[in-house]
Amino acid sequence: MLVLVIEDEVDLATTVEYALRTEGFQVRLAHSGKQGLAAATSEPLPDVIVLDLMLPDLSGTEICRRLRDQERTKNIPVIMCTAKGEEIDRVVGFEVGADDYVVKPFSVRELILRIRALLRRVNRVEGEPSLIRFGRLKIDRDAHRAWIDDAEIELTALEFRLLHAFVSRKGRVQTREALLSDVWGIEADVTTRTVDTHVKRLREKLGEIGGYVETLRGVGYRFKDQPDEDVA
Ligand code: CA
Repeated sequence: MLVLVIEDEVDLATTVEYALRTEGFQVRLAHSGKQGLAAATSEPLPDVIVLDLMLPDLSGTEICRRLRDQERTKNIPVIMCTAKGEEIDRVVGFEVGADDYVVKPFSVRELILRIRALLRRVNRVEGEPSLIRFGRLKIDRDAHRAWIDDAEIELTALEFRLLHAFVSRKGRVQTREALLSDVWGIEADVTTRTVDTHVKRLREKLGEIGGYVETLRGVGYRFKDQPDEDVA
């Protein structure tokens, strides 16, 4: 697995590189935005990109948009490194299109967990079986039915779409805006508060495992990337 790290702080980039190599990843480093774009499109293509938001020449958001615009790079998962208070909701939303983020200063361990979660998700998309299992939860995508253990959960069509959106994008940040567009349709005349109301109801119906849906304050939601052992 090849990780491209685009980061102008050389010390940080080197620390990340060392940690990733220790974990068995291959690493390509770029210290500017332009270098980063070139490194993102050279063979072999990276499997995941760690992208600093603040770079001297091109911003991380601009780079991310350009990656999304190109056929070869549009599906490469991107983790954005942001400083506190930067507009995380915009960065991980459909406006910019990063798949996840870490806030600086981040622990390298946290970054590696995020990378692994993204890679797991990407690699599982192939084939996409109708039946999805996640710990005690089972979802039949075609039949629009869901179970906890063997007990069926009574869900409205909208709640099912919401649950499916969470599970199929587990481990990734989902902003309220992205959920609105995916689950309700972008034209829907509802506000982001509506999303919260439905997430609350869905959590209640999921009972004990409602905790799989994590709230990211001011950003949105994230479905856990792995079921908890203690409730699974
Ligand atoms: Ca920087």
